[in-house]
Amino acid sequence: MSIDRIGTKGRCVFCGEKLFKKNEEHVIPKWAMRETGTTGTARPFYAKLHSSRGYIRVHEPWRKLTVPAHQSCNSEFSQLENLARTALLAIQSGDEVTPRQLGQFADWIDKVRVGFWWWVVSRSGNPLNVPMTFGIADRLGTKDRLIRVSLLDCTTEGLNILGASSLGFQNQPSAFALRFNNVLVLSVSSDFILAERMGYAYPTHWNHSSDGLIEIELAEGRGAPRIPIFPRLFGIPGTAAYQTLSGPDKSPLMVVDNEQVKPFPTSRFGSRWQNISVSGACALLEMEVRAYQWLLLQQSAAQGAKISPVFRDLVLTEHNKTISAISRAYFDRALPVLR
Ligand SMILES: [Zn+2]
Repeated sequence: MSIDRIGTKGRCVFCGEKLFKKNEEHVIPKWAMRETGTTGTARPFYAKLHSSRGYIRVHEPWRKLTVPAHQSCNSEFSQLENLARTALLAIQSGDEVTPRQLGQFADWIDKVRVGFWWWVVSRSGNPLNVPMTFGIADRLGTKDRLIRVSLLDCTTEGLNILGASSLGFQNQPSAFALRFNNVLVLSVSSDFILAERMGYAYPTHWNHSSDGLIEIELAEGRGAPRIPIFPRLFGIPGTAAYQTLSGPDKSPLMVVDNEQVKPFPTSRFGSRWQNISVSGACALLEMEVRAYQWLLLQQSAAQGAKISPVFRDLVLTEHNKTISAISRAYFDRALPVLR
């Protein structure tokens, strides 16, 4: 079934402008499908989405996950694909990654996260009536972001997107995770989530005006990072990179491994996550992503963003149900692997 442009209304995923000629962008690029053995129908994308008609089960080959895009915007961003591929393959094989490569990889993760959000909102019929006010071009490298890379000891090919079928993700694409063969990448990005603890200028007050504008009052940064920079909820091992981009201070990516700020460039990127199956690791990551989505929703509410109580209850119910379902599946299936 085609997307039928619901929600995105035939607008370009990159710039958000109208599309006059049919042209599409793959949410997961072809190179990533080839590398993970997901070009065919054997390992499709599977999700249970909250749609405008209740829950729907989506079961589609990854290549069918497309969003509208201008040809010109598409080719403007195609260079990023080559750069991200090089970085991801280096990470996967434990090779050296330069700061520049890591930045390109972080940009690509922003791209996939926002692209996937457009697809999910379209496919679900936008039950939350989320205004699609930004596309990939507006959101790439513009807000505080963290990426954390964990490497699994496995040779199983495969591709998974975790935490992106939730209502929390539909509301704001701030947290998701990607499994690319043995590489697990957590991506969390939202306004000012890292600035204060990274030691940069951070907001003390958020004033929402009636015309939708947000005015913030900033305090000066401490000048030095405080570890942990972002709460670690599940203790999942990994090398994390943090960057603040929301405020007047833009930082370089800061790499933290085992709670230690590492001098960069790192020789190897990504801590090993041992003695866990792929499905067990994915289940834990899904829970972690959902927990971060809930945390960020609470943060938006605390900053005075208008969040309808109905939506908040809906997300909370969904969140609780999912966490208990996943933990049941996880403890039933994955625990023997952990022993
Ligand atoms: Zn465009």
